[in-house]
Amino acid sequence: MEVASFLSDKASTISVVEKEAVPFQEALGPQVGGVAMKMLQGRGVKFYMKSQVSELRGEDGKVAEAILDSGKKLPADVVVVGIGVSPASEFLKGSPFALDSRGAVLVDLLMKTNVSRVFAAGDVAAFPVTLLGGERIGIYHWQVAQAHGHVAALSMLKKQSPLHTVPFFWTVLLGSSIRYAGCGKGFTETVVKGSLEEQKFVIFYIKDGYVTAVASLKCDPMVVMVAEALYAGKVISKEEAEGSWTAWLEMSQTESK
Ligand SMILES: Cc1cc2nc3c(=O)[nH]c(=O)nc-3n(C[C@H](O)[C@H](O)[C@H](O)COP(=O)(O)OP(=O)(O)OC[C@H]3O[C@@H](n4cnc5c(N)ncnc54)[C@H](O)[C@@H]3O)c2cc1C
Repeated sequence: MEVASFLSDKASTISVVEKEAVPFQEALGPQVGGVAMKMLQGRGVKFYMKSQVSELRGEDGKVAEAILDSGKKLPADVVVVGIGVSPASEFLKGSPFALDSRGAVLVDLLMKTNVSRVFAAGDVAAFPVTLLGGERIGIYHWQVAQAHGHVAALSMLKKQSPLHTVPFFWTVLLGSSIRYAGCGKGFTETVVKGSLEEQKFVIFYIKDGYVTAVASLKCDPMVVMVAEALYAGKVISKEEAEGSWTAWLEMSQTESK
């Protein structure tokens, strides 16, 4: 999506092929994904959703077309493949290290593995996420990897300082930042402030009646403020997200990209 956005005023035709119904669906949910899609559609980017590339064809080492699983052929001069992430931990399979079903190395809040004096940090680690009641998952953000590294280094120095961070992620599309804090995995509903149609909003992700994550577009500094509240241990109910955030939203009108 970032590449499509960057090239949208440079390339004559851009096609995005995506397995899900909207881009960013797993990370940001269908509402934010839908907005991102609309933003790029407004610049002429074409989307082929619930589709996969089954073949790339070309000559002399140069790509000429991408064939989708539907059989559709997309002429192409350049193909950018977003492969995603999976832990490079095959060499640990069958070893004493505890891994989850994706192959991520299980750690505690000190980034300790189950093997004495061995630590893991970053994308390869599945760690207890406070916002998910301690469920151990991987969160693939640059900021999280840095926080992990910090804690792991302190643990190695026997200066125990349990991980305390709120995951934070951002991306830029057409010059506007989508910001995201928390961990919305398994959210069951959302509260939207502002307007998805007008592409200016704050969206709260709710699980079991409480805010587990927040995302925004052109409503700075809302996400940072919510991240700070979550970091300080504040539990934000769905009702609070619905009701008492208007003042914060008004504050955020001082804008933002
Ligand atoms: C396309 C893409 C876009 C992204 N965009 C964003 C973004 O916009 N914002 C954001 O916050 N995050 C983003 N991320 C995620 C972010 O890059 C990662 O969360 C972060 O880089 C993780 O850091 P890390 O040190 O854990 O792993 P990595 O940066 O992956 O580093 C792991 C290193 O270990 C090496 N390695 C692997 N196996 C072995 C081995 N057996 N022996 C020795 N070395 C080994 C690898 O070669 C690699 O250099 C993106 C990721 C990708 C792939």
